[in-house]
Amino acid sequence: MSDNRVWSYSATLMGSPILLKLFANNEALAARVFGLIKRYEDLLTVNRAHSQVMDINHAAGQHPVAVSRPVYELIKCAKAASMVQDSAFNLAIGPLVKLWRIGFKGDRVPPADEITARLRITHPQDVVLNDTDGSVFLTQPGMEIDLGAIAKGFIADRVRDYLHQQDVRDGLINLGGNVQTLGTPQGSWSIGLKKPFSSSDALVGSIDVVNKSVVTSGTYERYFEQDGKRWHHILDPRSGYPLDNELDSVTIISRDSLDGDIWTTLIFGLGVEKGCALLKQREDIEAIFVTKNRDIILSSQRQFRFTPCDDSYRITD
Ligand code: ADP
Ligand code: MG
Ligand code: MG
Repeated sequence: MSDNRVWSYSATLMGSPILLKLFANNEALAARVFGLIKRYEDLLTVNRAHSQVMDINHAAGQHPVAVSRPVYELIKCAKAASMVQDSAFNLAIGPLVKLWRIGFKGDRVPPADEITARLRITHPQDVVLNDTDGSVFLTQPGMEIDLGAIAKGFIADRVRDYLHQQDVRDGLINLGGNVQTLGTPQGSWSIGLKKPFSSSDALVGSIDVVNKSVVTSGTYERYFEQDGKRWHHILDPRSGYPLDNELDSVTIISRDSLDGDIWTTLIFGLGVEKGCALLKQREDIEAIFVTKNRDIILSSQRQFRFTPCDDSYRITD
């Protein structure tokens, strides 16, 4: 008979709570997983003076910077997602993120002319990639790459790959909201979906998944209030202001957490109707929308089972 006991290991990395669950007591493995996360954080962060991404940013308007392969490939993927027509995802959003300072001290609605000025230095096509030497060049002075929307997903996938290499078949990693799952002796992992703007651990429902990533992006995660309005941390690269539509949150179920990260942002930009239409072309990516009107909309239900747990929400699929 197999032992189904779960061992949990936690840490704080990337400014977020990190949780690793294993079906064996293996402190040494947990320490190696946290070490791996920290090494990637050191390469990708833009919240410190130095990292490979900061080296690229410091050289904006001056010269290309060669970076390590994984960082180059991630930036290449982020640029591709940013270049999709009308994409709300933009890897060059850095100057606007820094201007708004949402989630950091001193956040406030910036003057409109400053937003306009910064929109001029957030064009993804001005991120120039060179496959031959693995270098990245930001052609305009003041440009800044920000991988905040996809770093956790990318790293969650690297943790999954590392656990596979270590012959760990069952487990779960939660990187501050990016959940990546590997099998489970119990049959499936149950992942709770937070109820937007509720102070407690309240859930709108939960989903059961096997070998899937579950990523939620919500306007309630990081925001401030000014002039009777909430200003949250997912910015519209077209207007320079937080994305405003019917959505409180989007959850993406996919194999890779990197896709989950990209699609949560894309879908936030599209809203429910256009988002669902686009997902019809992608059998491998599914979404759960939670709206301000308390509707829960499932784009499809192939890779998960949804269990509602709040009567004040209406469910549509
Ligand atoms: P969380 O940080 O809670 O995981 P997200 O995954 O939605 O939230 O990522 C939000 C972060 O992504 C922001 O804090 C910012 O660094 C960056 N960001 C904000 N707007 C965009 C955008 N339109 N495209 C790409 N990155 C963005
Ligand atoms: Mg995220
Ligand atoms: Mg996201």
